[in-house]
Formats: sequence, structure tokens, C-alpha cells
Amino acid sequence: MTRTQGIAEIVSRQRRFFGSGATLPCEVRLERLRRLLDAIAKHEDALHVALAKDLCKPPFESYLTETGFSRYDLRYTIKRLKKWMKPKRVRTPLLAQPGRSWILYCPLGVNLIVSPFNYPIQLAVVPLTAAIAAGNTAVVKTSELTPACSEATRQLIEGVFDPEYAACVTGGVEESTALLNQKFDHIFFTGSPRVGAIVMRAAAEHLTPVTLELGGKSPCIVHHDAKMSVAANRIAFAKFLNAGQTCVAPDYVMVHRRVERQFIDCLKQRISEMYGPDPAASGDFARIVNAEHCRRIASLIDPAKVVIGGQYDVDKRFIAPTVMSGVTVDDKVMSEEIFGPVLPVMTYDELDEVYETIAGLPQHPLAFYVFSESKTVQQELIQRIPFGGGCINHCMQHLVNPNLPFGGVGQSGIGSYHGFSGFERFSHKKSILKAATRFDLSLVYPPYQGKLARVRRIMK
Ligand code: NAD
Repeated sequence: MTRTQGIAEIVSRQRRFFGSGATLPCEVRLERLRRLLDAIAKHEDALHVALAKDLCKPPFESYLTETGFSRYDLRYTIKRLKKWMKPKRVRTPLLAQPGRSWILYCPLGVNLIVSPFNYPIQLAVVPLTAAIAAGNTAVVKTSELTPACSEATRQLIEGVFDPEYAACVTGGVEESTALLNQKFDHIFFTGSPRVGAIVMRAAAEHLTPVTLELGGKSPCIVHHDAKMSVAANRIAFAKFLNAGQTCVAPDYVMVHRRVERQFIDCLKQRISEMYGPDPAASGDFARIVNAEHCRRIASLIDPAKVVIGGQYDVDKRFIAPTVMSGVTVDDKVMSEEIFGPVLPVMTYDELDEVYETIAGLPQHPLAFYVFSESKTVQQELIQRIPFGGGCINHCMQHLVNPNLPFGGVGQSGIGSYHGFSGFERFSHKKSILKAATRFDLSLVYPPYQGKLARVRRIMK
């Protein structure tokens, strides 16, 4: 059997299994989610070893952003699933009386989940949790760039699920393409906008709905009234976590010209406190996923504009936490999503320059951050600028709150998930109206003679 035939077989087995109704009972879903939760706890060390192998993730980051995050999401889901699954009663207007109306959350069916390399465990497990919670089956396709994590994810999924319920396909473009040739009921893709477009084109062939969790350049604004050391702390943490390979990391900073010096001084101090005088020797700083990405990121560094860091070693996949100042939109570093530990800093005098810069870039940001003590500045920026989600006086914290839907807007994504939003994303909201049969009002049946005035009154 070829790999492609194997994939077709998995999908058709999942379709049969889903069609049998086996995934519908709440208890079945809960039992699998509990097993997944236990399996992550049991294999936590092995997962952290895989993350260290592929990305040199420090165990603390592996727990915070991968295994701990996934377990938190699982526990949150398990605790609330019964309530989420309850049909939601809605009012019934006079015209449809006598009757009752409700919304039923039904699973979409067989799902394809495609995950990227940067948070390889979390970005496979969290969508899978939502898919299973909503009563679906799923095929998870992991990234070829993180082979140890892909293998660990495969073992994790195969240890909890039979392949007709949830399966894991490892591999790269060939496997992805073979999967995309199949008919799914929903494709949940996390990755780059370039591949997102490929996924959407393939989905269009079968009219398959897609969720796209993409990336882009997320701005961070530091106004002159911001608490500078707080801003520097939070920006440095968010930018250099996982060596900058985070979709919601601040891609670039726009700082008010008056406080640029102060901001860069604070950043310098914080970076050295976080990673020591030689970040290459720090055990708390991850590495770039491969040499190719390392070369790409290094090529974005303009040595003439470096004010902090700037060192790199492609063989060791290392790029130091780097800050560049005096950057303009014409610099190479502003031409693409950086996805590495390089922070360009631009200045502004008037907020209008912030709007113009962001509007001049090709896509709506996935995330947006503003540091300011002024409510007016905060409100004006978050209302006027289109972006997926963001924070006032912090970076990335919106992701941590499962009550906030997480996703992009425009080219940074379609649809959102996390918490109830994830359950909703993998569900179809089926509308039901149950009519009484005790009497059968003839108001809307022909002949219509003499009925229009009464219908007008009812529909007013
Ligand atoms: P990518 O788009 O290169 O790869 C993602 C997945 O698509 C992988 O599984 C890969 O095997 C597959 N793929 C690659 N090329 C393909 C092709 N031609 N046809 C079909 N499938 C293909 O992304 P990446 O480099 O792994 O991850 C980085 C990107 O993901 C960044 O742009 C980042 O912003 C984004 N991202 C977004 C989120 C989010 O939640 N919005 C989270 C993490 C990463």
C-alpha cells in the first residue's frame, strides 16, 4: 500500500466510524480527553526531550507553552464539556408559535488538523482537544521540521486513540498534499499565509470549510507615557520566548521618538538580566528550527542598525536576542514576518504615523500590543487598527485566557478557537424548531384572502 493509499484508508475508516455515531456521547468524548490528559502527563519528560532536540526549548518553556498549556486546555474543556454540549434554547417569535426553538451543537465530521513547527505539541493537541470535545474524528498532520516532536505526537495520539477516531500523519509537503486531496468536513490549518492559501485552494475543490490560523507582522506600540521598564520586560519576554518563533510575538516596535533611548536602555538591561552576558551560553534561550531558517533570519539583520546583540552562528542554529534601531519600512527586516529573535524599532512623533505604517503593510496583524497609560490612546489604537487579538500593556497574554477567542482577521486568519470558541469552531450550530401538533393554525396557508393584515400585525 502506498503512503497515499494509506491516507485514503485512514480517512474512509474515520468516515465510517463517525457515521456510526460512536463519537457522539458526552462520556465517550470525556473518556478520550481524560486519557489524552493522562498521556501528556505521563509522557511529559519524553515530550520535553523531543522539544529540546528539535528547538532546544528550555524545559520551563516546554511546560509553560506546550505540555502545561495543553493540559490546562484539556482540564478546562473536560470541566465544561457537558454544559457546552447542552442544546441552547432560544426564543420563538409569534409567527412560529406554538413551538420551541433551540440550537444543537453537532460535530462537523472528519477533520484535518495541520500543525506548524514552532509549538509542535500545543498546536497539535489543542485543536485535537477541541475536535474531540465537539464529537469529531480527526487526522493530525505534524511538521516535518520538528521530527522528534512529530514522532512523539504520533506516539501520544496512537496511544490514546484508534486510527478511526484520531490518527497522526507525520511528513512534509507530500503527505500534506495527499491529505489535502481527500475530502474532509473541515480543515484546521496553523501555519504561514503562503501555505494557508494552498490549503484554501485545495479545500475549495470539495467546498470544505477551513479554519486558518496564520501569521504576519504583529506591531507593538510604546507611547511616551508607557511604564518603560514594564514595557521592556514584557516585550523582551514575548519576543525572545522560543527564540522569537511565536506567531503572536511582537514582530516590530514603534516607540514614541521622545522615549526611544530610554526604551532601548531598558531593553538592554532586561535582555542581559534574562539571558546573561552571553545568551549563547544561556540554558533559557531556544534555537532556530533549522539552518535554512537561521540564514533567512540572519539576512534580515542590518549590522549598521544593531544596538543589541546581532551575533549568529548558523551551524549552531543560534541567533542572539537582537534589537535594531533607526529602522524604516523600507528595511529588509520590515518586508516579511521575522519569526526569529530580531526586534526592529521604529519611531513616531504622531499617532497618525502608526496608523499609516500599519495600514501600509500588506496584511492585517494577527496580534497588536499597545503600551500606554492613556485610556484615550489605548482605546483609539485598539478600535482603529484591524487585528486578530491583542493586549493593552502586555504581550501575548490574550492567548492565556481561554474565555477569549484566539484567531486572526483578513490575511492573518479565518476563524478562532481556544476554550468554548474551539468547541464552537469544530461544531455545526444546527437550528431546530419543534412545532406543536395539538392545533394547526391556518393563518399562513393559502387561500391568503383576508389574512395579510393579521400577518402584518404579527410581524411588526
Ligand atoms: P508552514 O506554513 O511552512 O507549515 C505548516 C504546515 O503546512 C506544516 O505541517 C507543513 O508540513 C505544511 N506544508 C508546508 N508546505 C506545504 C505545501 N506546499 N502544501 C501543503 N502543506 C504544506 O508554517 P511553519 O513554518 O511550520 O510555521 C510558521 C508559520 O506559522 C508562521 O507564519 C507563523 O506565524 C504561523 N503560525 C501561526 C499560528 C497561529 O496560531 N496563528 C501559530 C503558530 C505558527
